[in-house]
Amino acid sequence: MSEEKSLNFIEEIVEADLASGKHSSILTRFPPEPNGYLHIGHAKSICLNFGLAKKYGGATNLRFDDTNPVTEDTEYVDSIKEDIKWLLEGTGNGWKQELYASDYFEQLYGFAVDLINKGLAYVDDSTSEEIATQKGTPTQPGVNNKYRDRTVEENLQLFADMRAGKYKDGEKVLRAKIDMASTNMLLRDPIIYRIKHAHHHRTGDAWCIYPMYDFAHGQSDSIEKITHSICTLEFIPHRPMYDWCIEQLGIYPSKQYEFARLNMTYTVMSKRKLLQLVNEGHVTSWDDPRMPTISGMRRRGFTPDSLREFCDKIGIAKRENLIDFSLLEFCVREHLNKIAQRRMVVFDPLKVVITNYDLGEENLLSENNPEDENGGERNVPFSKEIYIEKDDFMEVAPKKYFRLAPGQMVRLKSAYIIQCDEVIKDAEGNIIQLNCSYIPNSKSGSDTSGINVKGTLHWVNVATAVPMEVRLYDRLFTEENVGAAEGDFKEYINKDSLQVLPVAYAEPSLAEATLNERYQFIRKGYFCLDKESTKEKLVFNRTVTLKDTWAKVNK
Ligand code: ATP
Ligand code: MG
Repeated sequence: MSEEKSLNFIEEIVEADLASGKHSSILTRFPPEPNGYLHIGHAKSICLNFGLAKKYGGATNLRFDDTNPVTEDTEYVDSIKEDIKWLLEGTGNGWKQELYASDYFEQLYGFAVDLINKGLAYVDDSTSEEIATQKGTPTQPGVNNKYRDRTVEENLQLFADMRAGKYKDGEKVLRAKIDMASTNMLLRDPIIYRIKHAHHHRTGDAWCIYPMYDFAHGQSDSIEKITHSICTLEFIPHRPMYDWCIEQLGIYPSKQYEFARLNMTYTVMSKRKLLQLVNEGHVTSWDDPRMPTISGMRRRGFTPDSLREFCDKIGIAKRENLIDFSLLEFCVREHLNKIAQRRMVVFDPLKVVITNYDLGEENLLSENNPEDENGGERNVPFSKEIYIEKDDFMEVAPKKYFRLAPGQMVRLKSAYIIQCDEVIKDAEGNIIQLNCSYIPNSKSGSDTSGINVKGTLHWVNVATAVPMEVRLYDRLFTEENVGAAEGDFKEYINKDSLQVLPVAYAEPSLAEATLNERYQFIRKGYFCLDKESTKEKLVFNRTVTLKDTWAKVNK
């Protein structure tokens, strides 16, 4: 990544603001609502906000946008912090302060009182249906109702009573008094406070009125003196309200900027939909490896470096677009290719007996990672009986079949060249064993046989094989653009997104696998240990397939 990249439009804005002296340093924020786990779209926002601060010597606040007590929970707060830390691992970057919009409830209440005093807010007793009707339509202006003319004193008293718990949910709201005929529907006297007798995960029962997003967000930015408040395109129509509040209250002028949210093929990115997948059991949990959540991707074996690289590659746009899931897989593969330990695992075993091998058990050496010159080697036990993959053998092979076939030779990875002499079948005619002979002077690294074979197979020594469960994942949805597809998104769930192999056979070194290590099972893909794995029962997840399974090994 040494090539000069052109600036994205937000970097251009920041550089202009720093150059003009409008700001001497920048302060950004990442404002998750703790009502779900973070997904890859949030990763884009994190990379942008934290990345800008790092690039320009500023800082980033982590602010929980916790103004809706009904859907929020500390479980989500904890997971969000863990995910951000993981995503930024190794970058030296992190949040300056951990903040909560709920810490500003008293200040926000004060701002609302200030608006009332200025004649810019009023208590409305209308029902939500009445408010909706009075609001008009995009082509028809709204109408002013009688509550709009309440006096400042009356509004102050009613708002205090709302806070004191005198009214039930929905009985009254506080609205900003802006313009019921505005072409921007969001400026037609937006609701800024509503009554909700609900327990809040941080403030408990201290409040029964809660500020709306449009009243809480900008003011929270302003309280923290955020210079660049970056959000997604759907907030463009909210910007006039953002500016209106700051202007009327005469507080620090934070500015909002919008970029295109990340949408990705074969998945959904709305927390509401993700929650549905979890609650209705379509996936096992928020960190199910098929989920587009950061925790799911972590569990599946994606690395923080590859997610950051992906976010960097897709860039920051002003127009909505749909990013191909395979671009993310490409980034993951590129990184894993550099760091993954190579290991041999046979998924569907066929026993091979090497009839002329009489050295007992031999420890062969195999390189851990050809991409890393300091990767070292490991011992791989070899003996008379090994497993190869069933589909690496064909009794009647076509031309140019370079794997094993009667009379044909292949190399066993990091071991010897063998030749298939005899096919053993059971009573039903199923192939149950191959009898082969090996070429003694063909050992990898010291091959003097002069024999050239085109195929190299992975294998596992029968006596020392370690059984493991392997979980193979596919796209969660069958439809490329799930968001645009007709009907319920759940109709497009891929029924085959998880395939479990109860028993695969691994070389013994994998019994020592750790959660942090990444592996390439030769010719099979990239894998990692799953958190459900135990000493008694190893469980591995396939992170991603190899791009070209066959060409790689044969190089
Ligand atoms: P969702 O639609 O999944 O519920 P949200 O916008 O309600 O997402 P928040 O927790 O409010 O979720 O988001 C925190 C920050 O992440 C916001 O600044 C938001 O703009 C940004 N963000 C959310 N989804 C995406 C996305 N798909 N791409 C880029 N940024 C996103
Ligand atoms: Mg939101």
